[in-house]
Amino acid sequence: MTIALIVKNGTIVSSEAMYRADVAIADGTFVAMGEPGALQVQADETYDAAGLYVLPGVIDGHVHFRDPGLEYKEDFGSGSRAAVMGGVTTVIDMPNTLPTTSTPELVDQKRLIAESKSYCDFGLLGLVVQENVDQLVPMARAGVVGYKCFLGETIGNIPAPDDGMLLDAFRQVKAAGLRIGFHAENNQIMQHLMRKLKAAGRTDPLAHVEARPALAEVEAIQRMGLFAKHIGTRIHIFHLSSRDGLEMIDEWRAKGVDLTCETGPHYCFLSADDMRTLGAMLRMNPPVREPGHGEALFQGLVDGRVNGIATDHSPHTRAEKMHDDIWQAISGFAGVETSVRLFLTYGVNAGRMSLPQYARAASEGPARTWGLYPRKGTIQVGSDADLTILDLRKTGVIDAARMHGKNNHNPFEGHRTTGEAVATVVRGQIVMRNGELIGQPRGRMVRPQAASPVAAAV
Ligand SMILES: [Zn+2]
Repeated sequence: MTIALIVKNGTIVSSEAMYRADVAIADGTFVAMGEPGALQVQADETYDAAGLYVLPGVIDGHVHFRDPGLEYKEDFGSGSRAAVMGGVTTVIDMPNTLPTTSTPELVDQKRLIAESKSYCDFGLLGLVVQENVDQLVPMARAGVVGYKCFLGETIGNIPAPDDGMLLDAFRQVKAAGLRIGFHAENNQIMQHLMRKLKAAGRTDPLAHVEARPALAEVEAIQRMGLFAKHIGTRIHIFHLSSRDGLEMIDEWRAKGVDLTCETGPHYCFLSADDMRTLGAMLRMNPPVREPGHGEALFQGLVDGRVNGIATDHSPHTRAEKMHDDIWQAISGFAGVETSVRLFLTYGVNAGRMSLPQYARAASEGPARTWGLYPRKGTIQVGSDADLTILDLRKTGVIDAARMHGKNNHNPFEGHRTTGEAVATVVRGQIVMRNGELIGQPRGRMVRPQAASPVAAAV
C-alpha cells in the first residue's frame, strides 16, 4: 500500500482521551495508527506534528455560503477557503440560497456548484416549506444530511409551513431516516414586539434584542418537541441562544425525544451589552442575550448537552449590514474562519474546556447530529482522513482584512487570540499549512451513513 501522508509525533485528541500517536493516510482515509515511531511505512509526505494537537477535522454545522444566487456575499470557493484557513474541514450548508435547496434537482445543482470549487467537504440540508413536503424523501435520495425549516421570519423571507403541513413533514422526515432542524423563533411574538418598538420610535441596537425575547425561542422549541414526541421524528435546534431554550431541550430529552442542538461563538462569548458598542455589526437572528445565557450555553458545550459548535457564518456586504437604524441592518456576519481561534482562546486556553471536550463539540458532535459519524468526526482506521492540527501557543489578532471570505467583517474584530489551526487536512490532502492555502479545491458532498434507510438504499 502506498502511504500518501503520515502525521508524526503529535498528540491525538478524541472526545475521550489524548495520546501520542502517528497516523498514516492513504486514498483519503486513515489506514494505520501506532505509537510514535512504530509505523514502519514509507510515506510520500510526512507532517511533523511535534508539540501540536491533532484533532478530527472540525465540522462547522451551520454556514451560509450563499451559492447559488447570492455570490456577491459569498460563494462556495470563497466560503470554503475561509473555512480551511480557519481549520474547518467540513461544513453543513444552509438551504436558503437562490433558488432554495428544496427539490432533488436543486440539491444536485448545488452539489455540482460546490464540488467545482470547494476546498472543504460539505453536507447539504433540504429546505422544508408549505409546498414541498412531497420532495423530502426524494431529497434524501439526492443525498441531503437533513432538513431545515424556518419557524420565524429571517433572511430570505421564507415563510413557515402551517402546523398541519409541518406534521406531514415530520412524517416524511421520519420515513427518510433523517433529522429536521429548526430556526426556532415564534414569529407572532416577534412581529408583535417589532411593531410596538417601531411605533415607539425605537431604532437603537437593543430594540432588536427586545423584539426577539428568549421566550420566542423557548416556545418554538416546546412546540417542535411536542410534534417530535408524537410523530417520533429526530429534531435539531439551530443556533440555540438562551439558557431557557436549553432547559426546554432538557425537558424533551427527558421525555424521550431525540433532540440535538448547536450554539455559536457569539452566543457564548458576547452579550446584549456588546450590542451597545457593536450595534448593527452584532445584529443576528436570534440575537445575543443578556449576560448569563452565554455561560450556560458554553457550559452546555462542556457537558455535552449542547451537541456542537456552529458559527451560522452568514456574510453580507458592509452596506447591507451597517445602518444607524437597527431595523435597516441585515442580520448575520462571518464566522467560519474564526471559530477555532475563539474557542481555543476563551475556552481551552482559558481553562474552561478541555481539548477532548472541544473535539466533541467541534467535530464528533456535529458528525453524530447529521449522521456522518464515524466517517467524519473521529480519527480511526477507515474514517475520512480529515484533521485539524492545532498550535495552542500561537497568538494573533482577529483582523477582517487578513481573512479569506468575500465579506469578513465580524463582531470579534480586534480580539487577541491564543491558539489556532496550523494545518487543515481534508481527506488526506493538506489544504492549509502555516496560514498558507496550499491545497486544491477537491471538496466533496458527504452523505449520511446507514442511519438513513432511504440514503442507504441508493
Ligand atoms: Zn443560519
